[in-house]
Amino acid sequence: MSMDIIKQLEASYDEMVSIRRYLHMHPEVSFQETETAKYIQKFYSDLEIPFQANIGGNGVVARVKGAFPGKTVALRADFDALPIQDEKNVSYKSTVPGVMHACGHDGHTAALLILARTIHEFKDQLAGEYVFIHQHAEEYAPGGAKPMIEAGCLEGVDVIFGTHLWSQTPLGTIEYKSGPIMAAADRFSITIQGKGGHGANPHDTKDSIVIASQLVVNLQQLVARRVNPTESAVLSVGSFIADNAFNIIADTVKMTGTVRTFKPDVRDLMENELKRVIEGTCYTADCSYSFLYERGYPPVINHKAQTDYVADIARTVPGVKEVNESELLMIGEDFGYYLEEIPGTFFFTGAMPEGDVFPHHSPMFDFDERAMIVAAKTLGMAAIQFQDK
Ligand code: MN
Repeated sequence: MSMDIIKQLEASYDEMVSIRRYLHMHPEVSFQETETAKYIQKFYSDLEIPFQANIGGNGVVARVKGAFPGKTVALRADFDALPIQDEKNVSYKSTVPGVMHACGHDGHTAALLILARTIHEFKDQLAGEYVFIHQHAEEYAPGGAKPMIEAGCLEGVDVIFGTHLWSQTPLGTIEYKSGPIMAAADRFSITIQGKGGHGANPHDTKDSIVIASQLVVNLQQLVARRVNPTESAVLSVGSFIADNAFNIIADTVKMTGTVRTFKPDVRDLMENELKRVIEGTCYTADCSYSFLYERGYPPVINHKAQTDYVADIARTVPGVKEVNESELLMIGEDFGYYLEEIPGTFFFTGAMPEGDVFPHHSPMFDFDERAMIVAAKTLGMAAIQFQDK
């Protein structure tokens, strides 16, 4: 039966490509993906597959029950695009100025739709239940995963699998990693409140530029001297704003930045130490400050048993040539929210195009569409064979 499903998926390649290209030509940014959500709804309603719309926002969740009792497996694909101008010269280029599927979420959606239809066609031979989570707003915090979970998309679900097409990895390669795979992505903003005045009379002022400059230097010791050297963390100050005439001492400096970590204790440490260093620097300078630390997506932490399981399955999937351990990535992904609730794993599906390769979120980004079939087959086999576990 598994081979029949594999063959059916392979036979649907042209349809998968046409779905992907339609979505690629009609991208919508995070939280505004209403037409894409309608497209997904229509796909399911035409097939008379039951689904729920507007789950936690624009999310769509379809469910297919096999003929026999079994476990409930969720598969997730995101469907939002990015505020980037498509600069590729291809027939399926974005028709929306300034908006582009520059991360491959169009491919995730096409692969999951065709997989859902295929599982539906074979449902009389299948056990368990299959939950197809079409998630809006992955690209922009607070993201779509959290509200979809709060709206009940994981109710009764035993395990979840997800994948990301990856343009930096060759076609036919699956990359897995047990434990952390993608980072928690937090942001902070700091305002140093000094006391402005004449540039000729610093002794009557509290020079916020000098204080904030000291702070930037002091913050460098967090990763270097507070985090255990065998762990990973990044702190980057991304903006530093103090705009004044040449002979004025700045009243305030505003700074923003990002913190990336993989482990909850390192994340807590970075947040607490950041606060302490700001406090200490401002105490020394006798000035005040405001500090806002906003937690973004949690790290994506894969569960070991489910990760090993998917890696073993991937080795048996026709078209998969290599199954390798992934590197750690400092970028964020809101799939981490699902894995905080239930077991599962998130893996990468190699999608490197022939010719020039551009990174994700590049205005020239594209991927090898054949990777959609590899993704659908791997997710499909992981879901169906989970019944035998
Ligand atoms: Mn993405």
